[in-house]
Amino acid sequence: MSEEAVDHSNDSFNGDRPACEEPDKEQYEEVIIHNYPDCDFCKKDCEDGAKTPRKAKYDGKTTLGAWTYMCQEHFDVHGVGLGLGRGQRLLVLR
Ligand SMILES: [Zn+2]
Repeated sequence: MSEEAVDHSNDSFNGDRPACEEPDKEQYEEVIIHNYPDCDFCKKDCEDGAKTPRKAKYDGKTTLGAWTYMCQEHFDVHGVGLGLGRGQRLLVLR
């Protein structure tokens, strides 16, 4: 009878949450995924295939305004923060 975490296996961004649910700030700062994607900045650096891109830890807005996957290092440089409209930390569901 414990209140287990809701299963987010349906990854759609705007799931159909009950309207009465209290908005939880945290939900805008974290997103549950199944596998870490590659960091888009690292991918650019690794286009020649000589290196392996790092895994992204964030999906967020960059100082250039585009949304992209970023590893910690690139998030520190290019990210604009966490929260609604800014960025989300990626959490892998095991
Ligand atoms: Zn990176």
